[in-house]
Amino acid sequence: MFDLILRRATLPDGRSGIDIGIKDGRIAAVEANLAGEAAAEIDATGRLVSPPFVDAHFHMDSTLSYGLPRVNQSGTLLEGIALWGELKPQLVQDAIVERALAYCDWAVGRGLLAIRSHVDICDPRLLATEALLDVKKRVAPYLDLQLVAFPQDGVLRSAGAKELLIRALDMGVDVVGGIPHFERTMADGAASVRLLCEIAAERGLLVDMHCDESDDPLSRHVETLAYETQRLGLHGRVTGSHLTSMHSMDNYYVSKLIPLMAEARLGVIANPLINIVLQGRHDTYPKRRGMTRVPELMAAGLTVAFGHDCVMDPWYPLGSGEMLEVAHMGLHVGQMTGQDGIKAAFDAVTVNPANLLHLDGYGLEPGCNADLVVLQAGNPVEAIRTRAARLFVLRRGRIVSRCEPVQAKLGLPGRPETVDFLLNRG
Ligand SMILES: [Zn+2]
Repeated sequence: MFDLILRRATLPDGRSGIDIGIKDGRIAAVEANLAGEAAAEIDATGRLVSPPFVDAHFHMDSTLSYGLPRVNQSGTLLEGIALWGELKPQLVQDAIVERALAYCDWAVGRGLLAIRSHVDICDPRLLATEALLDVKKRVAPYLDLQLVAFPQDGVLRSAGAKELLIRALDMGVDVVGGIPHFERTMADGAASVRLLCEIAAERGLLVDMHCDESDDPLSRHVETLAYETQRLGLHGRVTGSHLTSMHSMDNYYVSKLIPLMAEARLGVIANPLINIVLQGRHDTYPKRRGMTRVPELMAAGLTVAFGHDCVMDPWYPLGSGEMLEVAHMGLHVGQMTGQDGIKAAFDAVTVNPANLLHLDGYGLEPGCNADLVVLQAGNPVEAIRTRAARLFVLRRGRIVSRCEPVQAKLGLPGRPETVDFLLNRG
């Protein structure tokens, strides 16, 4: 006896007509024509059933603060950082919590059930850190929130930042962050990478740094990040976020760099919505795209995820927790429009970020958590093409969100009355 059975699902790997049996919050069986009964069934005939979306790079302390205290007029990264500096002293813990909880509600509706959020620890009050640790606890029944101690103003450049970072880790923040390209010099940037990786190694923590978020082809902190990862034996535990300078780097240098990154099993996170609007701002024309070299990094065997990064905050006026939109932008900017490329973009918002976050029990095999999304699409390509509706979102086998299929009601003589106009007709 199962608690719930999803019948005749299509899986991201292309298998179709598969039943998924759920028992005690876990996936108990994945097979065609599953024998047995359940207290409830969901007819998923022809629908894509996927493990949930995962956002590997987000800023939950600033989300939904757009317009506070004013709007970013230039739209640049540096005006965004300045604006955040104006807002920070005015932040109130309850308001941060309220906005973060509102965003987590949006996320659940989108089938986004795990988020790695950076939290700015360059604040002597550590207000946002306290707020997001509270949010993490409150959302735990329905969403995995992983926090990164992020020294926005530079761990060396900002007085007292190292002590604040340690305090944040002591309070329970999960991951060590950094921002080497924002330190005063290249040498300071490299020193910050070394320092932060050593802190992570001592404490047995993961690392995820904002690294080389710049159009400067000589911003090469990722090289140091790969080196320190190897030196400290942190293989597979360190991630470089953004890495936009790689877009502008000399190709010969990159031919050496990517194998070094692969040796260190560095994780890579591109943030396509943000990279495409914030990079190339000093260019006239031609204007660089500024996203890191996603297809090439994937081809070299690195785990690459797409992050949302920002939603309605000092850096970005748009966004809604829709990871299919993130994947859509990522594959456009990376020119990944072959079928394999589009599928890789779907992986970049599901299984790849789950790997980078070291999520336990993620996946579709028996024994995994029964965290699932039923999409109004027949396959991952269609899901991205149509930003498919999330018909059911399950957390530990329980329905936490649902919606009706999106249909147009037609009034055309001789034509059907309704049509799933988004769906593939072929
Ligand atoms: Zn970021």
